[in-house]
Amino acid sequence: MVTQSCGYGIGEFAVGSIRHCHSAPRLGTMNQDTTDASSARPRILTGDTPTGKLHLGHFVGSIENRLALQDEYDCYFLLANMHAFTTRADQAEQIRTDTIEIVKDWLACGIDPVGSTIVLQTEVPAIAELSWYFAMLIPFNRVMRNPTLKTEIDSKGLGDQYPFGFPMYAVGQCADILAFQPELVPVGEDQVAHIEMCREVARRFAQVYCSVDPNNTSDEDYPAAGAVFPIPRVKVGRIGRLIGIDGKQKMSKSLNNAIFLSDSPKQVKKKIGQIFTGRQSMTEPGTIEGNPLFQYVRTFIRDEQRVAELEDRYTRGDNIGDGHVKAEIADAINALLEPIRDKRDEYEGKAGDDLVIDIIRTGTARANVVAERTLHEAKTAMGLSFGERSLKWV
Ligand code: ATP
Ligand code: MG
Repeated sequence: MVTQSCGYGIGEFAVGSIRHCHSAPRLGTMNQDTTDASSARPRILTGDTPTGKLHLGHFVGSIENRLALQDEYDCYFLLANMHAFTTRADQAEQIRTDTIEIVKDWLACGIDPVGSTIVLQTEVPAIAELSWYFAMLIPFNRVMRNPTLKTEIDSKGLGDQYPFGFPMYAVGQCADILAFQPELVPVGEDQVAHIEMCREVARRFAQVYCSVDPNNTSDEDYPAAGAVFPIPRVKVGRIGRLIGIDGKQKMSKSLNNAIFLSDSPKQVKKKIGQIFTGRQSMTEPGTIEGNPLFQYVRTFIRDEQRVAELEDRYTRGDNIGDGHVKAEIADAINALLEPIRDKRDEYEGKAGDDLVIDIIRTGTARANVVAERTLHEAKTAMGLSFGERSLKWV
């Protein structure tokens, strides 16, 4: 029996639990023996990288689905802070700040940290360990052919200077997911290639270590056939790829083209105003398809009749300027964000930070119970089990 400490110094996390404004469990309940979050509900795993605050793309690409499914599923929401180091290893302090900010965004959107489990990647050692084993099951060339990685290398201007750990994150993401043995992974469109790789790894593991015949086993039947990992399904959000205000690339934290959930009404107006369509006058017939302005119209104006009316008048150049359309989009976005901003205000400042850290610790302790169990099953299948261990938080 090996006992490990996760190494949180008492001083650093000696926070008073903020019981009056939240029902997060007390720090004292973080002992893994009393916080097993597993339930009969099917599982979801998804998450975000703390490379900045959350934006509208996250909301329509993934958060909406998380909110819709969080009661029905046993949800694990991962803060992929280790992956943030792949592009900003020299900005550790900022990654820590962004980690806390993202949890505030989640809470403001309505993620329930008690019914669901918020997980800090760097404090789940099983994820790092599984990443190593999975890295042996997938050819290097296969990883480098992943179209999402290629796009990221290009759009983030990484050239050939990215660290070794950058492509490794795609393998790590297979471990993020499979450590929780989920059925469903709700994500935006750019993540579909990653989930496909994760499915391949799960099948390969089953073939190599669990004697599952891939030619005679359908994806749904893997667990019944003796596989450690299910083959998770992907669920893409209502808008799989929201374009950024640059009108070119997907809205992204790292590309300076995002409208953040915490932006003020004025900032939203200003950013929408920056979208360029090239249209010259109110009477010039405009194009809808491929026009970033109209992706925003269709995404954020929920009155279908009004959307049809705007599209019709714009197409005909019926006395309607881009400025007019932009004003309506900004109003719709601000109406969506208003309650989120109000709720986010409750988590401002040190008290909010402390509450978030409390939630992270509680959720991560719960998550470790599940991930450790998965790791043990995997290692047993691999002939690597030499006794069980337990993680202890101090
Ligand atoms: P980064 O620039 O650091 O990669 P990001 O903005 O791409 O950040 P991620 O943390 O990588 O955000 O993605 C979190 C989730 O949000 C993923 O499921 C991803 O598919 C989804 N997502 C991100 N951007 C968009 C977008 N523009 N439209 C729809 N979904 C998105
Ligand atoms: Mg991304």
